[in-house]
Amino acid sequence: MIWNPKYEMMPRKDLEELQLERLKIQVAKVYEKVPFYRQAFLKKGINPSSIRSLDDLSKLPFTSKQDFRDNYPFGLMTVPMEQVVRLHASSGTTGKPVVAPYTANDIDMWSEVMARTLSSAGMTKYDVMQNAYGYGLFTGGLGFHYGGEKLGATVIPTSAGGTKRQIMLMEDLGTTVITCTPSYSLIIAETALDMGIDLSSLKLKLGVLGAEPWSEQMRQEIETKLPIKAIDIYGLTEIVGPGVSVECPSRCGMHIFEDHFLAEIIDPNTGEQLPYGETGELVLTTLTKEALPVIRFRTKDITSLNVEPCECGRTIVRMAKITGRTDDMLIIRGVNVFPSQIESILLEIEGVEPHYSIIVDRERHMDILEIQVEVSEEVFSDEIRKMEALEKKVQEELESTLGISPNIKLVEPKHIARTVGKAKRVIDHREL
Ligand code: AMP
Ligand code: ZN
Repeated sequence: MIWNPKYEMMPRKDLEELQLERLKIQVAKVYEKVPFYRQAFLKKGINPSSIRSLDDLSKLPFTSKQDFRDNYPFGLMTVPMEQVVRLHASSGTTGKPVVAPYTANDIDMWSEVMARTLSSAGMTKYDVMQNAYGYGLFTGGLGFHYGGEKLGATVIPTSAGGTKRQIMLMEDLGTTVITCTPSYSLIIAETALDMGIDLSSLKLKLGVLGAEPWSEQMRQEIETKLPIKAIDIYGLTEIVGPGVSVECPSRCGMHIFEDHFLAEIIDPNTGEQLPYGETGELVLTTLTKEALPVIRFRTKDITSLNVEPCECGRTIVRMAKITGRTDDMLIIRGVNVFPSQIESILLEIEGVEPHYSIIVDRERHMDILEIQVEVSEEVFSDEIRKMEALEKKVQEELESTLGISPNIKLVEPKHIARTVGKAKRVIDHREL
């Protein structure tokens, strides 16, 4: 169902007019209120009157995660604190987190785009949504929570973790929709199996999964192991949290809610804007945010945009499934390797489970790539010879695609640490 046909099905010409109008207001506001932006504009020799058409977007300076750090915690904010009703922060692993302030209108807008998101995924007010995204500073929990309520669904705020209890509640409360990271959905499947509970005997039918990269192969694994249709959702703290884009039932890209978020693709090396269809780095500009408007944020996420009409009737642009981040590319012995490539190859191989770790090290100036991957119970308890044959197969498949030879270590089921939120798959000892 389309939650807000007016904005999700707008003729593109009208949408672009609306975007331009809103962009002008955001640009004027940051220029007036945020010294960081004013300086960046002046450095480029522009001011708000330089923006006369959407094409002028490319004149504007970029914003990066580093700019958020440099202006920590409130340097990019455009309203006084008394107008801020909530603060979130990103899960940044090093240094200071990104702080995201919201006004009451920002929370309304966020709930609106999340209601559209859940509706696009196939949810209605008749659904019971168990929300296993982490509640707290992370935007996932509360973002989904408000969207689910706005839609009129029944929201169960379980947060992440306590998997056995999650399954008990799923069974007892009649959960129809699970919202969590793709990796956590697999932990739920595995735990249900241990508990002797057949998930397909429950009412569960839909999963709205995101917050981390996952391949099409991972989607297939998830849909085999859980009785759900798995829908991809994308978002980030700097822009709003979840709710930037989501798949529709056709699952051919994630529709970006373009009346609130303006999207471009750039060449990550030159910063040049790329045409629709080409793959590069996603850059997002907020069009309606009050507390923290963001101009041309470099997401580092790699995707492409498709503006062709979609069979669902939405006119808003679609972004392809994220294939990686410009900063998660590993350079191993000079060869570029994306973790998503490794995942896709591994999960095509029979007997291999969707739990793996990529470990990179350096020994005597030489990069070593080790991939630990779990195998199924049957393979593990089978003859050594069969394990060796599988190991060889994994090794050969990876080598032929990646162009470098990794060390493969097949490990027993449940050997690899499980995380309830975003999975950490790459361990690069070279940075230490
Ligand atoms: P955070 O601000 O901590 O929520 O992290 C946002 C980042 O998570 C994004 O920039 C992406 O790299 C990643 N992410 C979120 N959703 C997805 C998704 N559906 N597919 C791939 N990566 C995602
Ligand atoms: Zn669609």
